[in-house]
Amino acid sequence: MRHIVTRDGREIPVGKIVAIGANYTDHIEEMGHTIPESPMIFLKPATSIIHEGEPIYYPSTGSLVHHEVELGLVIGVGGKDIPEGSGMMHVSHHLLALDMTLRDVQLDAMRRGWPWSTAKGFDGACPLSEALPVGDPDVLSSLPIRLAVNGETRQDGTTANMIWGPGQLVEIVSQHFTLEPGDLILTGTPAGVDEVRRGDTIEAWLGDALSITFPVA
Ligand code: MG
Repeated sequence: MRHIVTRDGREIPVGKIVAIGANYTDHIEEMGHTIPESPMIFLKPATSIIHEGEPIYYPSTGSLVHHEVELGLVIGVGGKDIPEGSGMMHVSHHLLALDMTLRDVQLDAMRRGWPWSTAKGFDGACPLSEALPVGDPDVLSSLPIRLAVNGETRQDGTTANMIWGPGQLVEIVSQHFTLEPGDLILTGTPAGVDEVRRGDTIEAWLGDALSITFPVA
């Protein structure tokens, strides 16, 4: 059983990981997509979670791994068809996550009309920081979010550039899936996604309070 670990050392068993594609205007531009009329939703298995101290093992099933740095929302109170304006009342913690992606596998899946599961769900595809309680939920809508590889900044954005904000995403996801305590929502990535190779070190930051370091092995 995989866990989310809170800063005060509590372990929250993880249910499902629901991830949002194409939620930052700058990332949509760099991928050559158009802004969708509703969020693009996919799932990652809980077995993709790793924590600091573990490396991201380069998967054997593809040859182009990209980093995507994301704000993660931890569901504290479950719900279905959560009403507009109350999404954040269901979020207990937030964290910093990497939506590691086998880009070659994903592009091949897009061509074939296949799902993204193997591109987004390999072991180690969801490195997580510790989780912090949500204080003022509005703060999550204007956090600097940054990622560097070997000390060189690759992604440097703000959660203010999300198309659908954190609360809206919780509401929309709950129309598709019953949300339960311990579910994790990844909210999409800003521009600057790029390749990592074996031997690289990924560092990422969210606001002042969360940072992570993961080697690629
Ligand atoms: Mg992503």
